[in-house]
Amino acid sequence: MLGDDEVLKAVQSHIESRGKPLAGPLPGASAITWHSLLKGQIVRSIESRSEKKRLHRGPLDLSDRPVYDTLGDHRVPPPRDPAKPYSRKLVRRGSIDDRLCACGNGVVRCRRCEGEGTIRCAPRQRCHSCRDTTCCLLCGGDGRSALKPAGKQAGPPAHTAADTADRGRCMECGEPGVACVTCRGRGRVTCPTCQGEGSKPCPDCAQDGTVTHTHCAGTGRTVEWTEGVITRTPSTEEVRLPESGPLSWARKLADQHAAWTPTTLADDDPERARVEKDFGATLQPLLRTHDQEIARRTELAYVRFAKVAVHEHAHRIYYVFPTHGRPTVVGRPSPKRLWQIAGIAALVIVLLTLVNGLLA
Ligand SMILES: [Zn+2]
Ligand SMILES: [Zn+2]
Ligand SMILES: [Zn+2]
Ligand SMILES: [Zn+2]
Ligand SMILES: [Zn+2]
Repeated sequence: MLGDDEVLKAVQSHIESRGKPLAGPLPGASAITWHSLLKGQIVRSIESRSEKKRLHRGPLDLSDRPVYDTLGDHRVPPPRDPAKPYSRKLVRRGSIDDRLCACGNGVVRCRRCEGEGTIRCAPRQRCHSCRDTTCCLLCGGDGRSALKPAGKQAGPPAHTAADTADRGRCMECGEPGVACVTCRGRGRVTCPTCQGEGSKPCPDCAQDGTVTHTHCAGTGRTVEWTEGVITRTPSTEEVRLPESGPLSWARKLADQHAAWTPTTLADDDPERARVEKDFGATLQPLLRTHDQEIARRTELAYVRFAKVAVHEHAHRIYYVFPTHGRPTVVGRPSPKRLWQIAGIAALVIVLLTLVNGLLA
């Protein structure tokens, strides 16, 4: 763990190594601020247990499945790797009901045709060729309107030529050029499906009269049992503390330069107390055991680094990161310096604009 003295010494030799000797030793610890970062992930294994009735159509061997009495009490060792998904199917003791189906042979009588193999079909059906649903322009298909009142001329009423062009003699009223040529004025035609027979093959059983029994899927046998399922699903939480703040810039440098200390935040982890002190309440959600959590793997890394301001070099900020050897010092322009640079840039733009204006 870095200390104030070590940090100040590291900054001093960093500045001096760049040929900028300091007038005296660096000011004390007041120039130092300490910051902590935590990163990594926590993988939790979340377990769920459920039970339901199962039905298998046909023979099934369940003898290789583990058996339980009370699913909640069934013991399964915790996972060695919480990141690995796991699912196990079990059978409740004494719940297997393996039996022949009531159908006997896997087939049952067809309900649509009642075992007949054929179903009813209308022998005649409406003619679809009749224009405007009029089978005969004169009698309308009933043959009677042909008896017109005296004085009126026999023959079709005033129809257009196009209307009567493709019409023929009506079989009902006898008038030529008025009837639909398909049904010849009758309005109905013989059913093409049954050819007027009045029955057609049953589409459900293909005329067989029997169909496959759905309950046993035609196997003549079923197996029912109570199934328990134990599932373990990994849930990964990415950790990045502090979640936000002015440290994003320093975080990049720490990723690059610092030696992070691994920590699992377990009770026996020597880093835990330090990490808890630095992050306080924000750490609590990470330590909490989630609902149905049965195992976890914590892979975190922690670093504590110093930011040093040196009065004689106010335009720089020095970051000091721990490494496996001597601490690494990285100098960066201070915020004040960055504003100065931005100010100079703005001034240059203003001057250029003025010069342009004068020259124009
Ligand atoms: Zn059956
Ligand atoms: Zn049928
Ligand atoms: Zn017709
Ligand atoms: Zn007619
Ligand atoms: Zn028919």
